[in-house]
Amino acid sequence: GDAIFISTPSQKKILIDGGGPEGGRSVVQFLNRNNVTSIDFMISTHAHPDHVSGLTYVLKDIKVINVIENGIDYKSPVDEEYDLFLQFKKLSRNETDQFYILKKGEGLKLKTEEIEFHVYHPNVDSPHLNDDSLITYLRYGKISFLFAADIGERGRTVIAENRFFPPVSVLKSPHHGDYVPADNFFLDYYKPDMAVISVGQNEQGRPDTECLDLYKRKEIKIFRTDVHGTIKIISDGEHYWTFLKNGQQYPNQ
Ligand SMILES: [Zn+2]
Repeated sequence: GDAIFISTPSQKKILIDGGGPEGGRSVVQFLNRNNVTSIDFMISTHAHPDHVSGLTYVLKDIKVINVIENGIDYKSPVDEEYDLFLQFKKLSRNETDQFYILKKGEGLKLKTEEIEFHVYHPNVDSPHLNDDSLITYLRYGKISFLFAADIGERGRTVIAENRFFPPVSVLKSPHHGDYVPADNFFLDYYKPDMAVISVGQNEQGRPDTECLDLYKRKEIKIFRTDVHGTIKIISDGEHYWTFLKNGQQYPNQ
């Protein structure tokens, strides 16, 4: 699954997805360890259990002010996962201050002096729930990020064709490092220097070899949560630095 925690210079806390049931408990531990007592914006990119289940644990444990989701339900055939989704719906509507549903083509934009933060529901005609994932663009000074959730062939094509956001420094790779034909075009437009692939043990064989090969050919530095563990990126708005669990650090700039 995916879970991305962002702390802005003015201490706004943003959480994009919370992983699966197992991941959710780790996310809560992480937030507690880092003394995070409230989340300003919680984004549920889409209703698949490897993204939304963990958010339920966060909602149970930590004060959440705003929740943003795409409003599209998914009934997991796994009872535990579906139960967590129903709890997510209940808690996100009852225990928070504001609740937003972004429909296709709608976005939520925040701009302060220091950051630009834009959550967007791509206007894509696709039968796949993944293509309805909310994507997030974050810019701090010269450094920018695209968190591409699980968008697939159609989603990647549309947001690159429309040049919806400017090119970025760091890409949270779409859909756990799968490869789709649109990737070449998508990466040529967004031009990340670095990609983070959020992936665990899986039966689909992700990340796909074609995806890794393509990144290498385009000289995009790759970090993977299955290999490197939690990946931390710190930026001063001019540069950014990447820290891995084993203490290794990459200057990048
Ligand atoms: Zn996923």
